[in-house]
Amino acid sequence: MNRFKGKHVLVAGGAGFLGSHLCDALLSEGARVIALDNFITGRKQNIHHLEREPRFDLIRADIISPLPVSLQSKRRKIDQIFNLACAASPPHYQANPEHTLLTSVVGTQRLLSLAETMGARFLLASTSEVYGDPEVHPQKESYWGNVNPTGPRACYDEGKRAAETLTFDYERSGRVNVRVARIFNTYGPRMRADDGRVVSNIICQALAGDDITIYGDGSQTRSFCYVSDLAEGFLRLMACEREIGGAVNLGNSIELMVGELAARIRTMVDSSSRIVMRPLPVDDPRRRRPDITRANKLLGWTPQTPLAVGLKATIAWFAHERERARTQPAA
Ligand code: NAD
Ligand code: UDP
Repeated sequence: MNRFKGKHVLVAGGAGFLGSHLCDALLSEGARVIALDNFITGRKQNIHHLEREPRFDLIRADIISPLPVSLQSKRRKIDQIFNLACAASPPHYQANPEHTLLTSVVGTQRLLSLAETMGARFLLASTSEVYGDPEVHPQKESYWGNVNPTGPRACYDEGKRAAETLTFDYERSGRVNVRVARIFNTYGPRMRADDGRVVSNIICQALAGDDITIYGDGSQTRSFCYVSDLAEGFLRLMACEREIGGAVNLGNSIELMVGELAARIRTMVDSSSRIVMRPLPVDDPRRRRPDITRANKLLGWTPQTPLAVGLKATIAWFAHERERARTQPAA
């Protein structure tokens, strides 16, 4: 398809896990893409294959700081901005909580202001974490959430809530045409082995024969979406010409206990790893499942990749990465 042919698109966080897949998807649809990233969790290797692509550019910058002048030049054309910049895994976003919060608040404001100047459409990658530890299940976009504003996850959850507020204020005042995607747990190739999220942790532990760590008793639930499905959701939401009217959940509505996920991955890897219990992190949400009725009605979007297929591809990718690290150790 050519939904983005000739469009000039800025992807903040473009060297990250989701951002790099989004850059690939946009390029394959004919867009010209600028990835902007500070590489705190992103990696050059995620976009290495795009180095010779004439429609791709990379800018190293932090969205907390004033944006590079080259982006704001009168000669620069930007039709669309995707804001994915923000560390997303709990250990990474908690490593520098102030930076995480400012990325969502100050960084989002800078990109919204750029969108206003350029007359660009703006999409914020928000999160299911805005629902906190939800008292409503499954989570519809109309639910206001149950977030601890002072706990260790707040820098991320409250940052994203504030980023949504800013985004909708820009829309309300008629300054920018906006979209907000509330993304639920997404997995796939290019996650980092040291990412700390559950799918990458369990796969890497199972492949290495290390203990598989389950936090708590493993009865907490999440709903896991494969990365290519999520990227397609991003494209449809950005390209949609209908009135959106608020945030849109993007995620897989099949819910799974973390303990079940661990058992499935262990079997798929044919691993002899032990499954061990570790303390549940503070404020860890008990349940999480998106209601994706809005995404389905507005965008005709539903995830297409069964968990078994997505996990198989992700396991194969991590196995390949392990082999590469073994045969070509870093200098
Ligand atoms: P990621 O950590 O792989 O990607 C984030 C990217 O943003 C990285 O490349 C990082 O270097 C960059 N970045 C962070 N702060 C920045 C800053 N201040 N300036 C410039 N670049 C910065 O994470 P991901 O899983 O790809 O997540 C991408 C986005 O999607 C994030 O905004 C995240 O909150 C959101 N999200 C992801 C998931 C998921 O399951 N993957 C779920 C909900 C929301
Ligand atoms: N989790 C786990 N073992 C791990 C990493 C995470 O049991 O090695 C749990 C975590 O406590 C949470 C769930 O898996 O209940 C999903 O964690 P993740 O960090 O992937 O996403 P989030 O908590 O942000 O939804």
